[in-house]
Amino acid sequence: MPYLDNSLLIFTDLDGSLLDHDDYSWKPAQGWLTRLAEHQVPVVITTSKTAAEVTALQQALNLTDVPFIAENGAVIALPESWGDHLAWPRKVFGAEYGEIRKIIDALRLRYDFECRGFGDVDAAQVADWTGLQPDEARLAMAREGSEPLVWFGDERDLKRFEGYLNQEGLMLTRGGRFWHVMGAGVSKGQAVQWLAGEYRRLRGHPMVTIGLGDGPNDLSMLEAVDHAVVIRGHHDQPMPLANEQHDRVFRTTLYGPQGWKQGLDHFIHKSGQA
Ligand SMILES: [Mg+2]
Repeated sequence: MPYLDNSLLIFTDLDGSLLDHDDYSWKPAQGWLTRLAEHQVPVVITTSKTAAEVTALQQALNLTDVPFIAENGAVIALPESWGDHLAWPRKVFGAEYGEIRKIIDALRLRYDFECRGFGDVDAAQVADWTGLQPDEARLAMAREGSEPLVWFGDERDLKRFEGYLNQEGLMLTRGGRFWHVMGAGVSKGQAVQWLAGEYRRLRGHPMVTIGLGDGPNDLSMLEAVDHAVVIRGHHDQPMPLANEQHDRVFRTTLYGPQGWKQGLDHFIHKSGQA
């Protein structure tokens, strides 16, 4: 069972996990956030949102001086204090956004594929697609390593499009109403592994990792950590994990930040704590 000390490293999804599915509150988790900060335990936001969307939220959560993982693992934002790191300020896995856009444009020109990405439209259109306010939509459009798109063509063309993307070292994944184009092999789990390795190297000792998430796009993260908290989700998709051992995986009965608290209550050994 992990102890509350500087060998602990936490990775968390936002929507439906640390943040309430409906009102985005994290109040039930605040006690733990304060305790973790007091013990210098990094809480690494691991989300599908863009870095531009996460920055303000990270400050509001008071998770300062900590890296975060954006765009489902395509991007890791490193804080000021990591300024000497070779990858600072950003580690981008797979392909940079400009490169992804170029490949999509070229395939569309050549084969007449019918799709629109965030880079093809204005903030009003993205707001319409997502339900975000226009100024929020602009932050969601500040992409660095992945492109969400709406597919207007048929299934057969989508398969062909996917095949051509694969030939270019890109992949296509489904997320809600959008398809996402990003570098092949990019995932939250891959980014978690990279960052856990960097922490091990910087701190000079092994780290114990806990991951918390509620959705299918969190599975790779939950596989990559030592202890996984599967937060009860507002969806009916299965959340299968390869290693379901009792001391490795905990499935919460509560939703969102209540489940988040329940998961850390379960896993973190608090004895000897002030
Ligand atoms: Mg979620």
